[in-house]
Amino acid sequence: MRVLPTFGRHLRRRFGFRVCKIPLAIPAFTCPNIDGKYGRGGCAYCVNESFSPNFVKSADSAAIDRQISALQTQYRSNAKALRVLGYRGFLAYFQSFSNTYAPIERLRALHNCALRQKDCVGISVGTRADCIDGKMLDYLSELRARSYLWIEIGAQSSHNQTLDAINRRETFETVAETIVKLKEREINVCAHLIFGLPNETDEMIMQTIDRVAALNIDAIKIHPLYIVKNSAIAKINPEPPSIERYLDLLIEAIRRLPKNIIYQRVSAGVDNETLIAPIWCKNKNGAMNLIRSRLSQEGLVY
Ligand code: SF4
Repeated sequence: MRVLPTFGRHLRRRFGFRVCKIPLAIPAFTCPNIDGKYGRGGCAYCVNESFSPNFVKSADSAAIDRQISALQTQYRSNAKALRVLGYRGFLAYFQSFSNTYAPIERLRALHNCALRQKDCVGISVGTRADCIDGKMLDYLSELRARSYLWIEIGAQSSHNQTLDAINRRETFETVAETIVKLKEREINVCAHLIFGLPNETDEMIMQTIDRVAALNIDAIKIHPLYIVKNSAIAKINPEPPSIERYLDLLIEAIRRLPKNIIYQRVSAGVDNETLIAPIWCKNKNGAMNLIRSRLSQEGLVY
């Protein structure tokens, strides 16, 4: 049996105790594919609570104070619950929207606030590749030098026709260039991919796996396409992958990826009434059990 390097195992080895991620949503953050800089409406599968941009570009201290205060509240309410589960450390995961799409001084204040929290052992920042320019790279290098840092880049597919179809407003070339620059600065990179996007064949998905692996990424997050109410893709209503197809794709991907790639996630669940399809994503634990069981049949321990 081959034990896969999951993120949980990686963090336990790195820190010597159980570490989890606490997802954070910073009020007033947005995304350039929502506020009109690159596009409006967002990616076809994305549902944000508000599509009306309330992003304030000026780094006035009152706005920063409000964001820090909101961050502390989110952090503490999650931290208590996770300590009960036996986690002794947390990564502050800046998850919602594009978390490098803000003035650097605002980000620095928020990151410093996170790092000051009890048991916070590092930071993970989810963002778009086109929100990381030269100055942001310099800032992230500085942050990496003083903290345990991950940057999570939404790639989704390496096929530009697919990225166009889902209104991603970004090319794979931009994603690849940004990942290369982050890796040149020895910053940990996790790439996000979606399996089963409209009109993608299994061969196209494996091309994406090979292209992303060639970028020397450290970790990967994979999940099936799922469709939720009020998303643009719900109007097209493509057929998401069946559990059987998804498992076949996942196993093939794991066999192709370098053995040292860390798996941050291999599924997704939407445990509420907003999920339209696939129904097998409704039960997160059930889906994970199916995935674990099938991987085990293939000699892989997740
Ligand atoms: S880049 Fe992320 S936050 Fe922005 S629209 Fe796409 S999925 Fe939503």
